[in-house]
Amino acid sequence: MQTHILGYPRIGSRREQKKANEQFWAGKITTQELLAVGENIRKENWKIQKEAGLDVVTCNDFSWYDQVLDMSLTLGAIPERYKTIAESKSELELYYAMARGFQKEGWDITAMEMTKWLDTNYHYLVPEFTKNQQFSFYSQRIIENFKEAKENNPGKNVKPAILGLVSYLLLGKEKENSFDRLDLASSILLIYEEILTELQAQGSEFIQWDEPCLCLDLSPKAKETYQKVYQYLREKFPKLQFILVTYFGGLKDNLPLAATLPIDILHIDLARNPEQLEEVLAALPKEKKLSLGLVDGRNIWKNNFEKSLAFINQAVEHLGVDRVWIATSCSLLHSPCDLDLETKLNPEIRQWLAFAKQKVTEVATLKKLALSSDLQNEDELKQNIATFKARETSLLIHDEAVKARLANITADDSKRKNNFAVRQKAQQELLKLPLFPTTTIGSFPQTSEVRKYRSQYKKNEITEEQYTEWLKNEIKESILWQEETYIDVLVHGEFERNDMVEYFGEQLKGFVFSQNGWVQSYGSRCVKPPIIFGDVSRPQPMTVFWSQYAQSLTSKWVKGMLTGPVTILQWSFVRDDQPRSTTCKQIALAIRDEVADLEKAGIKIIQIDEPAIREGLPLRKSAWQEYLEWAIEAFRISASLVEDSTQIHTHMCYSEFNDIIQNIADMDADVITIECSRSQMELLNAFSDFKYPNEIGPGVYDIHSPRIPSESEMIDLLKKACKVLPKEQLWINPDCGLKTRNWEETKKALLAMVATAKEARRIFADVKEVQFS
Ligand code: GLN
Ligand code: ZN
Repeated sequence: MQTHILGYPRIGSRREQKKANEQFWAGKITTQELLAVGENIRKENWKIQKEAGLDVVTCNDFSWYDQVLDMSLTLGAIPERYKTIAESKSELELYYAMARGFQKEGWDITAMEMTKWLDTNYHYLVPEFTKNQQFSFYSQRIIENFKEAKENNPGKNVKPAILGLVSYLLLGKEKENSFDRLDLASSILLIYEEILTELQAQGSEFIQWDEPCLCLDLSPKAKETYQKVYQYLREKFPKLQFILVTYFGGLKDNLPLAATLPIDILHIDLARNPEQLEEVLAALPKEKKLSLGLVDGRNIWKNNFEKSLAFINQAVEHLGVDRVWIATSCSLLHSPCDLDLETKLNPEIRQWLAFAKQKVTEVATLKKLALSSDLQNEDELKQNIATFKARETSLLIHDEAVKARLANITADDSKRKNNFAVRQKAQQELLKLPLFPTTTIGSFPQTSEVRKYRSQYKKNEITEEQYTEWLKNEIKESILWQEETYIDVLVHGEFERNDMVEYFGEQLKGFVFSQNGWVQSYGSRCVKPPIIFGDVSRPQPMTVFWSQYAQSLTSKWVKGMLTGPVTILQWSFVRDDQPRSTTCKQIALAIRDEVADLEKAGIKIIQIDEPAIREGLPLRKSAWQEYLEWAIEAFRISASLVEDSTQIHTHMCYSEFNDIIQNIADMDADVITIECSRSQMELLNAFSDFKYPNEIGPGVYDIHSPRIPSESEMIDLLKKACKVLPKEQLWINPDCGLKTRNWEETKKALLAMVATAKEARRIFADVKEVQFS
């Protein structure tokens, strides 16, 4: 029985990687200093694995920015636009140019596109492919890293983790028409062969092939490519032990394929899909071993040893001890580093948790317990059982009132009193908004001043009164400016919020926050997700004070601004002792209370942001409907209590929603604002086939760039929108919140946006049907 993990966090327990990267980019440290930081992080990570007693130590899991980008550089998959940089700069500079773009010394080269790593909040850099692309063994970092790992771990088995060829291809994108990126497999395979030849020469015995795409819906051609690739590698390297690792779901219909690929050890994710064990055991051919992904790499809860031991025993019975490995479910990249650094957490909650370092120990402990001849007397097991008993009945978790309320939800609770047509009329009468109403998405610039005041307040350097007065002043200035600019529906600006989920989590019961629980989001960017540990409720209003104050300053309407239940769920570590849908509905009830209080306080337009609804979609299409049902119900529970004349908005930040457009319509928000301009309103294609029923504000300019949009380009976008949607349904707004912009950009852009609305009203005033060439 062997133990291993699939990868360790690379950011360093004190975010050393982030700090070093940022200093390096700012020219404050040298390449040597940067590299030394990386070396220390890797040493520390290996030390943790060795001290815990893992049998196999993992390498090549470190990255300065992203492991997929590392693979692109290894394979020489360098897009044409970086060729001059490749010729004249160092490999490291080229690497960062691909990651972040290169805008100096007369160059202006865009970065590679970034997208979410399957269903996580980690972002990778999307490989770009062209039809006749040439590959080469370009960067030798894998080899250097392996040698370094060998030196640091004498006498240990060292296993390089390498992104498998098929997943690498599937996660990339064609940059030319009329070819299939899978057709590049045979030429890339030659580079993989070179890599393995070198690794084998350096003494590698194991290779971890990360193939998460085996948990996705695969085309017949993708399946065939899997067979060809692994067959080829097997023939070339009969002695290397291949560990094929799959995670973030079950193998399902890909099980026959995965089980019969010519590899030595198959790894499955039992945290995500425990039900698959039986099938996998039945399908696994005699000569193969099975790695059980028992310790959850995606969440922060302690492992339940009794449950894990049951799985191990089941596997051992089928396969025998020698054919069973014990592991984390996936790489620990998605876990925070070290619970030992959390000195301020409530000790009762703290004992329920395990971060990366603790999870490594759990893997080793599971093996020890599995092999124990006196299991009932093992202290680790006794303690673990006691902890789980205590958690099950903890008063911190269970709130009977919340459970009762949830149990009594009826279908009416997720329905508005009347249908949209009736509501629209009531809203028009009350709100009296013009054609093409203008608004923004909520936040205004979070300037260094805003952040300075917030941090002074958090450190008790200024009083609550001082902080409140200062915020009120910011709100007042922003309201006055929006009035002067003739924006129709105003916002208070969200100056009091650090983050759209944290702000609510800090005020809700059932949430805690770590001090150092950082997880890499992309490059040097880390997030610290809230931990939802118990039943969620809202002790008191969270946003009413600010919205009411803002509304008191103006005769125009001010939008109340809330984060929706699905987004709060999606961006937190979620409790594992009840279904996600239950937790989500509890959050929905808390938001519903806030909506009710806002309405009572005279706020007649309320926006409930759900930027994360789409990213919550399960990896397999067959599971979409179930998710969408509860997610949409949760949104509707939060929004449905209000009067017909109260207008509910929602906001989403993505444009590929064609495949779930019916579900978005089912949310039944009166108005939806949505990111659109980066795709040049491609999204609007969806509306030519689907008649979107309610009002909609397709973003007319991109807030991710400092560029000021011109009136004419916004008019053009609007014309496109008018082709597929009746003008009475349209709003005019930016793509997303403005918190990352500065005031100068914001003011210029919004002035142009309001001018656009004015022009649009003139053009479209009495036109019944518009014809555009
Ligand atoms: N209301 C939020 C803001 O304006 C929405 C942010 C988001 O969509 N991610 O910042
Ligand atoms: Zn957004």
